[in-house]
Amino acid sequence: MTMNATGRPTTPQISDAHAMTTMSGSRGLLQDVGLIFEIGSPEKTGVDLPALSGRADRLGGVTRKTQTGLPGLSEPEAVRHYVRLSQRNYAIDLGLFPLGSCTMKHNPRLNEKIARLPGFADIHPLQPQRTVQGALALIDELATWLKTLTGMPAVAMSPKAGAHGELCGMLAIRAALQARGQGEIRKRVLVPESAHGTNPATAVQCGFVVDEIKANARGRVDMDDLRAKLESSDDIAGIMLTNPNTCGLFETDIKEIADLIHNAGGYFYCDGANFNAIVGRVRPGDLGVDAMHINLHKTFSTPHGGGGPGSGPTVLSDALAPYAPVPFVIKNDDGFRLVESVAKDGAQSFGRMVAFHGQMGMFTRALAYMLSHGTDGLKQVAEDAVLNANYIQARLKHVMTPAFDGYCMHEALFSDAFTAEGIETMDIAKALIDEGYHPMTMYFPLVVHGAMLIEPTETESKQELDRFCASLESIARRAGQGDESLKTAPHLAPMKRLDETQAARKPILKWSPPAPQAVAAE
Ligand SMILES: *Cc1c(COP(=O)(O)O)cnc(C)c1O
Repeated sequence: MTMNATGRPTTPQISDAHAMTTMSGSRGLLQDVGLIFEIGSPEKTGVDLPALSGRADRLGGVTRKTQTGLPGLSEPEAVRHYVRLSQRNYAIDLGLFPLGSCTMKHNPRLNEKIARLPGFADIHPLQPQRTVQGALALIDELATWLKTLTGMPAVAMSPKAGAHGELCGMLAIRAALQARGQGEIRKRVLVPESAHGTNPATAVQCGFVVDEIKANARGRVDMDDLRAKLESSDDIAGIMLTNPNTCGLFETDIKEIADLIHNAGGYFYCDGANFNAIVGRVRPGDLGVDAMHINLHKTFSTPHGGGGPGSGPTVLSDALAPYAPVPFVIKNDDGFRLVESVAKDGAQSFGRMVAFHGQMGMFTRALAYMLSHGTDGLKQVAEDAVLNANYIQARLKHVMTPAFDGYCMHEALFSDAFTAEGIETMDIAKALIDEGYHPMTMYFPLVVHGAMLIEPTETESKQELDRFCASLESIARRAGQGDESLKTAPHLAPMKRLDETQAARKPILKWSPPAPQAVAAE
């Protein structure tokens, strides 16, 4: 095959139907996208401004004398470049996003409209508080919803992600232990082996030691293992437990777990990332939870691909509420006020976690979502999310292997037991790309061999679920028969199998021009 200097074929290639390439790299109407460094050049620019004259140099002589080397583009080139790139992306607005443990649901456009209202979007965090009473009222109202839905007396609104909420809760637990004079003694935090990686990471970051609890054959906490760990120690700080857990299952012994932890003198941190499955149906406060973060971007809708934005308000029990971080909103006769300092009203607070007050844009979206759904609508969210996941599990269980018996909650978990020798979870995930779907969560949770975790959410119709299941069913059949073509999937994507290990270990973050190649290599 003849290649040009950037490694692209110089003549159309038709080796098999799937691998056909064209001169332009086009697939259908999707043209190949060159790197911005390849299509731009320092001499080009999208704007044409007269040279500055007659102005004093106000930079104290540090003005750049040489070119930055950044590529210039004309406006149409820039627009096309980014629009083409955006067409390479998969998005929740394009189709079902089966990632488990992520709650990728449709984000109502109404929320976006509300978040862009200038009275919310254009205010500054340093504005005098009397000029932002509406924003403070919104934070307070959202806090009331969160407390009501979780059955908890207090909430810290400022954490900016689920993991940040975990940090908030665990710092509150540490502060409470220190206030009891046990900060140096109670160092052990129990974490089930199926936990999301952020749980043990958070515990360690707060200076705790992680002790892993086993899962039983039903995918829940092994109660014998838990009791044994509690009996043999007086250094328990608490437990970090996800409910529904990362296997997509409700922790049926959760109330007993809470009692055991409390009797052992510890606190119960609940990872609430999966609240979408129980919102409006179960109040975590009734289960004995002391602290729980809520991923607003998962349960209460905010577009959250690509690493942001996030928001992780953390509800706290009476025992932990005094240690909540500043700032927080309080209401008095003059209206709403932010408590900003660790003194007076915030005297026991463990401190501050963010520069300002949290993710205002997400607070606005979350409250719009809640008000437009109402309490009955939120309850139906949970019910439909669970129904959809069970539909997928039921439709696929004759060709794939459910990891555990019985109904699931909001996500269906399969092991790779159904695949023929040599076919792995990775191959199935890659084949889904050819079917036009983003892969499901794979190899997580770790307690299930070759795990495939699928969370459809409540926003998918039966028609869409059927389309997705038909695709996965055909891939699963091929996997069961040992179809070798799965090993090289995806065949239709612009990029095939990337060396993900190399990309993570040796990332090349800076572009350098390709070495000049006089004659194309064969
Ligand atoms: C998503 C998730 C987290 C982390 O939340 P971020 O907002 O991504 O920091 C923690 N635990 C579980 C179970 C999750 O699914």
